[in-house]
Amino acid sequence: MTETPLLLDGTATARVIRAEVEARVRHLKEVYGVTPGLAAVLAGDNPASVTYVRMKRRACEKAGITSTAREFGSDATQEQILEAVHELNADRGVHGVLVQHPLPKGLDESEVLAAVDPNKDVDGIGRGSLGDLVKGEAVFVACTPAGMVELLDRYRLPIEGKHAVVIGRSVILGKPMALLLLNRNATVTICHSKTHNLAEITRQADILVAAVGRAEMVTGDMLKPGAVVLDAGYNRVPGRDQDVGDCDYESCSRVASAITPVPGGVGPMTIAVLLANTVTAAERRVGFGKPGAG
Ligand code: NAP
Repeated sequence: MTETPLLLDGTATARVIRAEVEARVRHLKEVYGVTPGLAAVLAGDNPASVTYVRMKRRACEKAGITSTAREFGSDATQEQILEAVHELNADRGVHGVLVQHPLPKGLDESEVLAAVDPNKDVDGIGRGSLGDLVKGEAVFVACTPAGMVELLDRYRLPIEGKHAVVIGRSVILGKPMALLLLNRNATVTICHSKTHNLAEITRQADILVAAVGRAEMVTGDMLKPGAVVLDAGYNRVPGRDQDVGDCDYESCSRVASAITPVPGGVGPMTIAVLLANTVTAAERRVGFGKPGAG
């Protein structure tokens, strides 16, 4: 492929989703007198986490969703965090509970995520949501993978029958992405740090998902001509003004038929899905809502 690839514009697509979310929020308020609410639990001073929570809260406020945060220092105890989660589970004004990942070292993140009420698990990474995803019945799917699939759908890029290669197997990103694609009848290969001959495998991908956290690791020569490339990576590189993805955009865009830029690709979709999931949680509470997507 030498012609310019289709740019999968996450900023523009997220704007459309956010407008849909705003309409659903208005409906909930007008018909049911309910204002959707999202509560974040933040522990420690990881600058990326602080920024993400701030961005999510701002996006909520713009969409008409109430946003609160329980903030703890790096010395927070497991009991304090669990108590906050239990209080938010019981709070009728809160429809979604988000535990910002990663929690400081020494805290048992798995136990905290498991404590989130499954009906409020808008981040989709609690045990119940992940189990439902395995069964193809998830209501809430982890926001970044769900955002990537939404992007494919909105651009009408087919998934069924395609060979999808996912690089990365984290619980928040790689694994749920692989399951979502499998549930949509893709043939899925998952690669990770112990995978041998990575490029041989990525060259077979009709859909290539990079979810690694290594700046520009995927280069154009690792792609099949015409591949659809979804780059979830977000990497700070010393001396560069802008964060970069896991894919080398320049060389990949010479080979791909469609590609997400960084920034402006997968990132904005993540927050849009979080807002949509929060509204879904509120809709389910009042007795309606979409069936599981995952
Ligand atoms: P993570 O938990 O560190 O997982 C990284 C995965 O990449 C692991 O499965 C690891 O394999 C694999 N990996 C590492 N080096 C590799 C190599 N050389 N070859 C093949 N696989 C390799 O990271 P994450 O939380 O999934 O995040 C991945 C990226 O997405 C990061 O850049 C992060 O900033 C970004 N991200 C973006 C958003 C967004 O909203 N856009 C949200 C979350 C994360 P092992 O399992 O073998 O260690």
